[in-house]
Amino acid sequence: MKSCAACDKRMDYTQILKSFSWYYKPVTCMRCGKHYVLTNVSRCLLSIMIVLPMVFLIQVEWEFLIEILIHLIGALIVIFTAPFFVAFKEKE
Ligand SMILES: [Zn+2]
Repeated sequence: MKSCAACDKRMDYTQILKSFSWYYKPVTCMRCGKHYVLTNVSRCLLSIMIVLPMVFLIQVEWEFLIEILIHLIGALIVIFTAPFFVAFKEKE
């Protein structure tokens, strides 16, 4: 998990998860109040990791509901593991 560059406090998992919603909200350090935003590379990586499996899975002939369920589970796995690999930068 990422830490604040100023005070070294670890960022909260749920706060990082919430930052993925609604046009990437900034994460605020709970100790010193510094604001961090996802880097553009992390935003792209996150989008690619959600969309790319769908592109490959759409080639396979499955029942519609099973296909939707697999896409949903894949997207949820990416979203819930993302706080461990995304990078943040200080908000300007
Ligand atoms: Zn801090």
